[in-house]
Amino acid sequence: MLRFGSAITVSQFLVFVQLSNFNFRCSLIFILIMFFLTLPEKIHTMSEQVERTKCLIIGSGPAGYTAAIYAARADLKPVVLQGMQPGGQLTITTEVDNFPGYPDGVQGPKMMEDLQKQCERFGTDVRFGLVTGVDFSQRPFTISVDEEKIILAETVIIATGASAKWLGLESEKKFLGSGVSGCATCDGFFYRGQDVAIVGGGDTAAEEATYLAKLCKKVYMIHRRNELRASKAMQHKVLQTRNIEMVWDSTPTEVLGDDSGVIGVLTKNIKTGENRTLEVTGFFIAIGHSPNTGIFKGQIELDDQGYIKTAPGSTRTNIEGIFAAGDVQDHYYRQAVTAAGTGCMAAIEAERFLGS
Ligand code: NDP
Repeated sequence: MLRFGSAITVSQFLVFVQLSNFNFRCSLIFILIMFFLTLPEKIHTMSEQVERTKCLIIGSGPAGYTAAIYAARADLKPVVLQGMQPGGQLTITTEVDNFPGYPDGVQGPKMMEDLQKQCERFGTDVRFGLVTGVDFSQRPFTISVDEEKIILAETVIIATGASAKWLGLESEKKFLGSGVSGCATCDGFFYRGQDVAIVGGGDTAAEEATYLAKLCKKVYMIHRRNELRASKAMQHKVLQTRNIEMVWDSTPTEVLGDDSGVIGVLTKNIKTGENRTLEVTGFFIAIGHSPNTGIFKGQIELDDQGYIKTAPGSTRTNIEGIFAAGDVQDHYYRQAVTAAGTGCMAAIEAERFLGS
């Protein structure tokens, strides 16, 4: 016997029509019968695809997980969507030595595992899932996940972070975490008394170069032009620092290394074509960050660099009920502990918003 159900495909139906020598009216009746027979199944599938939550947290770095710890303890039953890189930027670092509470330091991935366990202990629902669309025009806010599920959220905490820009060299990838770093404040300490190089010409590179200069014997600052982009004050500081040597008009072409990690950086002068090898054990990339806000464009107010704008001293965005925490709204501090701090603020603000 032929079973009518959603398993019947269009081609099967056409074969059925041909074989049965059906006329147009019969076909129409057949379609209607099929539609009504599969309706309960369709409704069930649709309701399974739509879910409601009081608090949706997008992102799973220190900001997202800390927001989840506070939101869960406030009984908001938060859902965390982990995104493309569960655990965030810290999962691609090695030792974290500056997060309070770890006297002997901690591996970045381990710290993120611990944070996840901590927020799950209070009942947070942590899930794999990528946000593929948002509608913030009315509450509850509508968030599409993996293009198949809809979450209706009373409040949203955006903690999608920022991604460091990389040069794109194979050798840079190879030595990431064993000499190559995207954060001098985090990793500079490991290169005390050694020679290091940093690439970039903006405020971050200038600030990190002067920070490194206090710890390291020598700092090469590689910049692709002969003028820094950094503010005048920072330029002045860099150029006045005795152990910073500018490598102008140059770009790194290869990171050199062996089993011990980085042993040098090969640079090329863009104007003269001259190659130079800098003997360094640490290589810091400071060519900017991109906030992960592409999906929110047009839905929430961003600054001219694409970071989410928040009210001073708060995580409130221009939309009531939506909060932003961590690097997605902070291009200045960019530390795990500041991200965690703003995650806490966001959860408290979300709780008070729901209670008001
Ligand atoms: P920026 O975008 O300002 O600077 C990036 C630097 O990296 C530029 O000098 C750029 O060169 C260089 N660069 C970009 N891509 C490459 C590449 N592929 N190869 C080599 N070099 C490259 O980023 P920052 O992170 O420095 O700063 C971001 C924002 O944060 C800025 O507005 C800055 O002012 C602000 N900030 C402020 C601080 C403060 O006030 N204390 C501290 C840190 C940041 P080029 O100049 O040729 O384009």
